[in-house]
Amino acid sequence: MARPYRLIDMHCHLDRMANAREVARDAAARDIAIFDTTVTPTDARKAAELLDGEPNVHVGVGLHPWWIADGTCGDADVARAAELASRSAFVGEVGLDFGRRGAGTEKHQLAAFEQIIAAIAANPLPRRVISIHAVQSATAVLDILERHGLAGANTNTTCIFHWFTGTSEELARARRHGCRFSINEHMLKTKRGREYARQLPLEHLLLETDAPPGLDAPYSAEALERSLITAAEGIARVKDIPVQDVMAATSKNAGKLLF
Ligand SMILES: [Zn+2]
Repeated sequence: MARPYRLIDMHCHLDRMANAREVARDAAARDIAIFDTTVTPTDARKAAELLDGEPNVHVGVGLHPWWIADGTCGDADVARAAELASRSAFVGEVGLDFGRRGAGTEKHQLAAFEQIIAAIAANPLPRRVISIHAVQSATAVLDILERHGLAGANTNTTCIFHWFTGTSEELARARRHGCRFSINEHMLKTKRGREYARQLPLEHLLLETDAPPGLDAPYSAEALERSLITAAEGIARVKDIPVQDVMAATSKNAGKLLF
């Protein structure tokens, strides 16, 4: 039986907090579960070791496009990420960034993301969750997911757009494919973000923090909780429903994906 949590953070860089294990345990005491999205396959392996014993945490296999764009990760890392993702039920953070941070490296990013998605598609699991970064690239992300049969309701893979900032046409296309959307407090600071949160059905929404604001410094479960509640309050306001309903629904949605 899946254990219900009060809050679930579906996109958090827990392993890049200097006190990750302490935050994980304090989060458990606050009845909060966490999907730890990693940024390189090396981090993913370290995080799996570090957080192995924490029942409220799942670690994703990740390769963040910024780490490709700045040259930190090369072909060997892409191959490693694809290999790990092919046998992991939890994948993220992966994706594409065609904004300022990724400028000039679009081809590299596309090749890397496609290699990871192809490895996942070739190795189906009973269920799998992918947390996706898509800045000015939601169309390209959806093209790749479609090409490999990972978009659509009849797959065992749930694709989550983290902090969706695409166009309303891209949003409609992602919805048609059964994608989910994890929403953080920063997304709700923009008019477009609030409008998307209002339009999307509660059953497709998840909460996230994308914390911490700066990598490798100490952070706290209290700050995570505050950020998750702020996001839930923002969604409740635009949907004109009680915040408790948003917390209960998003926690149930996330719980089905993680536990
Ligand atoms: Zn992130």
